[in-house]
Amino acid sequence: MTKVVHKFGGSSLSSAARYQAVAQIVLSQCQAKDCVVVSAAGKTTNTLVKLWDSYQQDDNQGFSDILLQIENHQIELICALLNADEQRALLGCLRQELQAIGEACKHNTLHEASLLAHGEVWSARILASYLTQLGTKALNIDARNLFKLHHGQLLHQQNKQTCNELLSEPMIYIVTGFIASNMAGQTVTLGRNGSDYSATLLANYIDASAVSIWTDTQGVYSTDPRKVASAIKYSKVCRSQANLLARLGNPVLHAKTLSPLKNTAIKLQVRSSFEPEASPTEVVKEGYSKEKRFITTFNELDLIRVDGLGQGEVGELSQLIQHSIHHFETDGEAYLLVPAANTHTVLQALSGRANIVESALQGCAIVAPSADILYLQSQARQILSRQDVVVRFSHTASKYALFLTDQAIDSDTLALLHDKLINKGRELGVIIAGLGNVGEVFVEQCRKQVSRLHDQLDVKIVALVRSKEMLFCASGIALNNWQQQWQNEAVAYENDELIERIAELDYEHKVVVDITASESFSKLYPSFVKQDCHLISANKYAGTADSQWYQTLREQLNERELYWRYNTSVGAGLPVNFALADLQHSGDKITHIEGVFSGTLSWLCSSFDGSKPFSELVLAAQKMGYTEPDPREDLSGRDMQRKLLILARDIGLNLDVKDIQLEPLMPAELAQGSWDEFLTRRDTLDAFYNQQHECAVGQGKVLRYTGALTLHENGNVTAKVGIAFVDKSSAIANLTPGDNIFVIKSLWYDNNPLVLQGPGAGKEVTSAGIHSDLYWLVQRLK
Ligand code: ASP
Ligand code: MG
Repeated sequence: MTKVVHKFGGSSLSSAARYQAVAQIVLSQCQAKDCVVVSAAGKTTNTLVKLWDSYQQDDNQGFSDILLQIENHQIELICALLNADEQRALLGCLRQELQAIGEACKHNTLHEASLLAHGEVWSARILASYLTQLGTKALNIDARNLFKLHHGQLLHQQNKQTCNELLSEPMIYIVTGFIASNMAGQTVTLGRNGSDYSATLLANYIDASAVSIWTDTQGVYSTDPRKVASAIKYSKVCRSQANLLARLGNPVLHAKTLSPLKNTAIKLQVRSSFEPEASPTEVVKEGYSKEKRFITTFNELDLIRVDGLGQGEVGELSQLIQHSIHHFETDGEAYLLVPAANTHTVLQALSGRANIVESALQGCAIVAPSADILYLQSQARQILSRQDVVVRFSHTASKYALFLTDQAIDSDTLALLHDKLINKGRELGVIIAGLGNVGEVFVEQCRKQVSRLHDQLDVKIVALVRSKEMLFCASGIALNNWQQQWQNEAVAYENDELIERIAELDYEHKVVVDITASESFSKLYPSFVKQDCHLISANKYAGTADSQWYQTLREQLNERELYWRYNTSVGAGLPVNFALADLQHSGDKITHIEGVFSGTLSWLCSSFDGSKPFSELVLAAQKMGYTEPDPREDLSGRDMQRKLLILARDIGLNLDVKDIQLEPLMPAELAQGSWDEFLTRRDTLDAFYNQQHECAVGQGKVLRYTGALTLHENGNVTAKVGIAFVDKSSAIANLTPGDNIFVIKSLWYDNNPLVLQGPGAGKEVTSAGIHSDLYWLVQRLK
């Protein structure tokens, strides 16, 4: 059975009413064996720190005042929440403990960590009693019995074993956050705000499936939502960015929180205990969310330069001051950003190797994908200078830019920075399926094309998919290195995994670009649509599927206001679908479409002059790669029949393949049997073609293989693909061998038709045609 660890911070337990709300969450969310990690109620740890300070300063009056304040707060919680028996028991414990603290103070034997530990001990005890009173089996656990350290290092193996032994009964365990113990049994703390870390450690030890951090905000925001109303709550944030934010002092997650999750599949959620129904922020593994933009602010920091900063020294210093310290190097110098209140301690610890560069700084850091950092840095600098904020020190690294200023970044300035610099989700995630000839060129062309689109929409290639393997990278695949990344990171998949990864992509817009030659892939379109993906198809499968399936797909797309482009499925890059749509948008009515929509058949018919048998041309075309592996597939005319169907549907006709009459460019009997058998009967084909050719010549015409569709005045439609004898002077007769041609007649283009002609195949033009669809889509979405 999967277990979950829930963690409630001080703000979630700041009053009796908050305890009640937390208990309701526990009752509705927890199952037996789940663990609930709690912090000290409200600001209790701060108060205990003050108590310790007054002890250090021998301030007896202060000491007893603070102790009384603590006592009253705890009594208030106990009395408001518990029934008489429980009250008596807990008040008894509390009195004993407070007495012991008083005694230790008198005898000068008070121990800092043991003193601070009380906050968590009290919270766990009250919550466990309260839950028991509500009829749930809940047990209060002191984490000093679970988490052991030796020389400051957690003994993971041993702790894991202890946790699994002690937390195995079918009940809910209420575990103290923040505290652990050393081999001598003395209390050790995990650092200020360390309860998040307790929760993820515990999750790791008991193999939990998820950790929920319940706090007073709904999740991780682009900036402080209390200062900027338009702050964006992100539904997903990747671990590396969450880590960076924590190191930069962002209060949402503690710096060490994520480390126990490394190499595990444990999910981490940040959610609000004040609004338990609100959707949380999920902190996900790299590649499962794109990188976001954030602005985080600083207060009262000193900038310290250090000579020869040793490895692990920053960690030790953070441990010492119980606060995360951001460090960076620039111009060969090492710098630390230390809360001003702790500077003295840090300087002392670094005895003589450090000096203050700037003191009492405020400021902000912009965290963003590397590709955006330089741009954002320069924009932010301009905005700050326009707001008359003096930047005393700045530093730009690959994933963040920080500005240290001598005045606080006020809400207005923060809102302005946020407004101008934080991308509000105008983005399109592109999933490319099929990396054959055309697919590869398409990806290559993306390099230039994506940056060209950048001003309109943030377009990122987030997935490459082949028939058996896929590569997902929610932050965007590096296009100058995609082959390498494919080699290293592509994984085998089943269709439902593909759909699931697409569902997980947190992009405002998504598009699946189908450049496969796979009919089964096209069957997944409805699933893509359910995941709100736009579609771009380069093949004809979906466009020519039976009308019921096709119509349903169209309806689903309409319902979700999604677009489907398939410009290259007919005539490759030739803008025939655009032309038809444009004419109709202008009020025109298409009455006739005729043409040659097959490069192979175009080449064969235009090259035939009677000097060589027709079958010889077929074999030559096959050799040059102009045909399908079995050229009878081309001669069958089916490909042109399907293209004509797509055009028919484009002008609003509800046809199926069978409604388009098909006359192959070979005698019917040659369609049967193997290719080798066909070769032995070549002369049948030649006789057939010669006969048709002579007929055409006899009429003073030219033999071509065409598709034609006519919409008659009475509303009837005739559609046919087959041999046609055309006038010598016509555009179709004079087509460059291999080219496609579309002759369109309409109300406006009646006597003189509109003619589009040019190459109807080739990887460059096809790929460019797909880019034209992508560009079109971006214009609609921007
Ligand atoms: N109560 C401790 C503190 O305030 C631990 C925590 O809240 O996570 O630092
Ligand atoms: Mg806290």
